[in-house]
Amino acid sequence: MSGGEHLGGDMTGAELQALRRAAGINQADMGTKIGCTRHSVSYWECKGLLPRHAVRWGIPAKMLQAMGHPLPDYRTHTRARGDGVLPWQGLEQASLDRCNARVAERIAHYNATRRVICAARTRKGQPCRLKSEPGRNRCKFHGGKSTGPRTDEGKAKIAAAQRARWATYRQQQAARVLTNADSQTAYLPHYERARP
Ligand SMILES: [Zn+2]
Repeated sequence: MSGGEHLGGDMTGAELQALRRAAGINQADMGTKIGCTRHSVSYWECKGLLPRHAVRWGIPAKMLQAMGHPLPDYRTHTRARGDGVLPWQGLEQASLDRCNARVAERIAHYNATRRVICAARTRKGQPCRLKSEPGRNRCKFHGGKSTGPRTDEGKAKIAAAQRARWATYRQQQAARVLTNADSQTAYLPHYERARP
């Protein structure tokens, strides 16, 4: 039982005393080192089996640390916490993984079922009042059931069209002179703003 290896398992007062003697420290000096009296050191060394919380958190723990011994770790398996038998180092990761999986499941469910007010405009120019298809932003009349382009050819076509639209938009924006009217209508939804 030299420094480096952790002591493992349970220990007795006699073992603690043997460790202290091996380190060449008397009880009074040990007390000074860890901030207690020599009587406290003596008390623990005269005990039989030391309670685990003392070896982990109490004066025996302070003595072990002062002598350079790592504290014993009593967590050997995680069965009691419902994680099955894992090495305890995997416990936190397993818990995080479970939590992430739950969150991902909820988000996926929400995204698949949420219904919002349709974002399209009707032919009269008013916002559509129907609810969207589940998980979509448009109602069944305004493209909510659309799958979008499916073939590579179709995808390339829509990408090209969008690039062209963005190019036109950037040109318009660059050429646009902001007027007083723009600042007055900036708070309006886009469909009620003046068109350039
Ligand atoms: Zn609609």
